[in-house]
Amino acid sequence: MTEHGDPYGHGDVPRGLCEALGVPTEEFISTVGLFRRVHVHHSEGEWWGSGEPLQVLIGVSGDSEAVVASPKFEWSGQELLLHAADPDPAQRNEQLDRQLNEITKKRRKAFRYCRQCRTVTAPEHRNTGPDICDSCAARNGTVF
Ligand SMILES: [Zn+2]
Repeated sequence: MTEHGDPYGHGDVPRGLCEALGVPTEEFISTVGLFRRVHVHHSEGEWWGSGEPLQVLIGVSGDSEAVVASPKFEWSGQELLLHAADPDPAQRNEQLDRQLNEITKKRRKAFRYCRQCRTVTAPEHRNTGPDICDSCAARNGTVF
């Protein structure tokens, strides 16, 4: 049991979000999936993200409206800032599922396998070339 009384032990299940969407937590997990808390730069709402690398965002605005968005990263010096791009009011049920799938599909198109470590890599971690991740580039001697 977590502090939210979640029987599945998924402590990150967005309770406030489930309330904004009007769905029980269990239903959220079984239909929408598992999300974890993420920090969106300069945002007043609360946000959760899903996927590794991050593929989709869902949030609750200050006035308790559920919103979906695409994760967009921006480097600020050595810090990687997350932005919620193209936010849209979250639909309900199957439409929400479709919304999330569309965002996910678009984001995945930008993923590449690193040619050295074969890890799926998002564009924000391929700063030296389209098919090499930053970790491998650093091992190869690139200084960021
Ligand atoms: Zn690599």
